[in-house]
Amino acid sequence: MSGFIKKFKSRHFGKATRKMTGRLSRNLRHKLRKLPNRKKHYGLIGHPLSHTLSPFIHKSIMKQCGIKGTYKSFDIAPEDFDTRVVELLDKLNGFNITIPYKERIIHLLDTLDENSTRYGAVNTVCNRKGYNTDILGFNACAIDFTNKKVLLLGNGGAARIMLPQALSGGPSEICICARDAEKTAKLISDTCRKKNSSSTNGNANTDAITNGDNCINNCTVYHADFRDVTGVYDVILNATPLGMWPHCNEIPVNEDIIKNAEYVFDSIYNPLATRLLLKARQYGVRADNGLVMLLQQALFAQQIWNSKADLSVFNMNQVLPRMNKKLFKHFPIKIVLTGFMGSGKTTIGKKLAKAMGIGFADLDLLIVEDNRKPISAIFKDSGEQFFRESEKKCLARIIKEPASLVVSTGGGALINPDNTAIVKESQGFIFYLATDLETSLKRVGDNQDRPLISGKDREHIEILYNKRLPVYNSISDFTVDATKRPDDVLNTIIEAIGY
Ligand code: NAP
Repeated sequence: MSGFIKKFKSRHFGKATRKMTGRLSRNLRHKLRKLPNRKKHYGLIGHPLSHTLSPFIHKSIMKQCGIKGTYKSFDIAPEDFDTRVVELLDKLNGFNITIPYKERIIHLLDTLDENSTRYGAVNTVCNRKGYNTDILGFNACAIDFTNKKVLLLGNGGAARIMLPQALSGGPSEICICARDAEKTAKLISDTCRKKNSSSTNGNANTDAITNGDNCINNCTVYHADFRDVTGVYDVILNATPLGMWPHCNEIPVNEDIIKNAEYVFDSIYNPLATRLLLKARQYGVRADNGLVMLLQQALFAQQIWNSKADLSVFNMNQVLPRMNKKLFKHFPIKIVLTGFMGSGKTTIGKKLAKAMGIGFADLDLLIVEDNRKPISAIFKDSGEQFFRESEKKCLARIIKEPASLVVSTGGGALINPDNTAIVKESQGFIFYLATDLETSLKRVGDNQDRPLISGKDREHIEILYNKRLPVYNSISDFTVDATKRPDDVLNTIIEAIGY
């Protein structure tokens, strides 16, 4: 620390001075904060803040870009908000604001930048001025809206960011789908403008909207259950929490809408792949989660706080894998593999768990361990019914584990709807490793511990295969061609999960 700073600190911040002057003047604090090389203090204000990724993201950016300082979470209860924020405005060099305070902070600030004024929401504060870097983060995702038919789901904070950006991108049509008509009207009037009201058809209104330079004539607003929405849309933007952990089973739109799209953007990033993204990728539709948007908004916040820092050196690819690991740690997900015998569930399961750095469980092995004998012996001594009961018990037990896991199941396990329900209730994802019968039989060979096929003729096995096939197809969230090499199968699953 330079002599000047030492002198400055001892002159203004010595114990005696503090006793004499009580609280330091705001002006003085600002002066001190601006001194070069001083450790900076940043944070995140919100409620609740359990498992937030922001401290990790900001610390990573600061480390890579040589910014000295700290970044902490401040979980503030609504009744303490004003008092605590006034304190933090003085104490911190800058902070982020998240749900539910992005609007409430405004009255405590001196000024707002253009974006936060326009959207009425602040997510970054620096020198008592409010900014909105969520918008910049979404912009940085560079979604192509030119001449596209856009479906926007939701009318909350994320939709406020997405609607004007989509409109600026020159779409051919925008359809907003949300539950609350008044809230959607406010979304449009706050972020764009209705030019004139054109038509109403059932629960849909079509208007012309503009945000100054950009105008489209087809902005349709639906007030319906999302799953009732029909039509073909090029770009789908999910600005709702539908599908977010711990409600991973939810999917906002029906499969026809997803498979006809060109691109799907889900603002959610926990889980990394929502059911919406899995389905999109299944149909070969390009699809992204909200993780890059989250990282980008943090980068823009750091740039505001540290205008002289060179943030271009930040390498996102160094951070993303660690963020993925954190997400699987904080938000436990079960990835359950199903498929006919010989589809490679155990081999792929082990590889997948290793690649993702999470645990692996083999359901058949658990049953063998529980009963202390091979599966063929369980069938011989106690019959299939007993085996199925044991299978259900073991599945229920492993699914309850509080950590993320890859679980490989026996070929018949998820044929039982009770077992599928166990997986779905736990918000697990089912991956079906699809093989043709020939491949399965070749791989299984004459394995004697497969009581349902060993010693049986081809016709018997074919009946079993044809009975199971439609069930696998109907219960799975993602189907992989498992006749390919194990590494190709593994990569397909990893890409689908977005790991
Ligand atoms: P918000 O302001 O609470 O808005 C949520 C929207 O979803 C509202 O339109 C709400 O409609 C709708 N919604 C909620 N539950 C619904 C349901 N069951 N069925 C139909 N609609 C439902 O929240 P937000 O800030 O916009 O956040 C939305 C999502 O975006 C969250 O998952 C959040 O994590 C994510 N997000 C991500 C980033 C990022 O950087 N990646 C940034 C911001 C937000 P009602 O008003 O009718 O309830």
